[in-house]
Amino acid sequence: MGKEKIPAPEKTRSLLHAEKALAEDDADRSLRPQRLAEFLGQDAMKENLAVFISAAKERGESLDHLFLIGPPGLGKTTLAQVVARELGVDFKVTSAPALDKPKDLAGILTAVTEKTVFFIDEIHRLKPALEEMLYIAMEDYELDWIIGQGPSARTIRIPIPPFTMVGATTKAGNVSSPLISRFGITCRFSFYEPKDMEAIIRRSAGILKAPITIDASRRLAASSRGTPRVANRLIRRMRDFAQARRTPAITLDVVEEGLNRLEIDRLGLEKYDREILAIIIERYRGGPVGAETLAISLGETVDTLEDYYEPYLIQSGLLQRTPRGRMATPRAYQHLNLPQNAASQTSGGGTHEDQRVLI
Ligand code: ADP
Repeated sequence: MGKEKIPAPEKTRSLLHAEKALAEDDADRSLRPQRLAEFLGQDAMKENLAVFISAAKERGESLDHLFLIGPPGLGKTTLAQVVARELGVDFKVTSAPALDKPKDLAGILTAVTEKTVFFIDEIHRLKPALEEMLYIAMEDYELDWIIGQGPSARTIRIPIPPFTMVGATTKAGNVSSPLISRFGITCRFSFYEPKDMEAIIRRSAGILKAPITIDASRRLAASSRGTPRVANRLIRRMRDFAQARRTPAITLDVVEEGLNRLEIDRLGLEKYDREILAIIIERYRGGPVGAETLAISLGETVDTLEDYYEPYLIQSGLLQRTPRGRMATPRAYQHLNLPQNAASQTSGGGTHEDQRVLI
């Protein structure tokens, strides 16, 4: 494992990186729920967590390690913070891409205090050497550390206090099974129900002191992709539009005009989402088309396509993931008002990627 001296925790690059990430999110901070009661929606998951938290507190133990799965913006980071607050313990945060060397992770682990909640975002991107270090820390509350070099090198085990690891990912399939098996509790986030989105919108509007009518919040809820982060962003924009119009509240009129100007449609799709569907339909005759080919056509990375855009398109019944690639559904044709070509739905042989190779 690591050969360098374990750095002072305050100086690790990863922590600084994470703090920066949180600072960038400052505008959002006031809207972040602090307690479980303010964390709206995801009821089944929340109820179970409440039980596990109070049981751990009653026993005076650290909470079991927690694995959070779900698309971006659904509240994984928020929930991790809420859990720490409910437990009344320290919270440390970083993200896997910020952890470059073993010393980056060791620096944080040696600084955890009893029962600390340590959150690693994008845990599927953790490097294998660091993963190994994390297994041991999670299971034995010890840190393996190599001192010296060459034949005189030896491993020492440094004890660390029992802590709670919270790992979050948008891609559970990319997390190794040994790592998954170290988590005692798994929470799977789903897109929020319209009624929960409405409640989140009303709460945020209250905090932002931006009065909103019931029909406006309903309309905004329907266009927020079942995602609190999107809802919060849209509320701010609607507040701007209301201010520009000199209207004292965000009304349905303001929302209709605002969404129109932002090119967000009734399903919450943005221009780019529609472009994805249009490319599949028009360039690849409805699919199937492989993710990589599609990403190249869009000038986007596969990760962004898979993490950010696809989950909501699939959830909305507009896109299908098949073993041969992505396909537009009949609903996508209807939504874009495009004629459905019968031939496109019966592509017998290979994918269009195959055809591209042959041509
Ligand atoms: P993730 O870590 O999954 O990408 P975040 O935890 O950063 O998502 O959440 C994005 C924003 O959405 C937060 O700043 C918070 O204001 C809001 N949010 C998330 N979940 C909820 C919730 N359940 N109730 C209210 N607001 C929420």
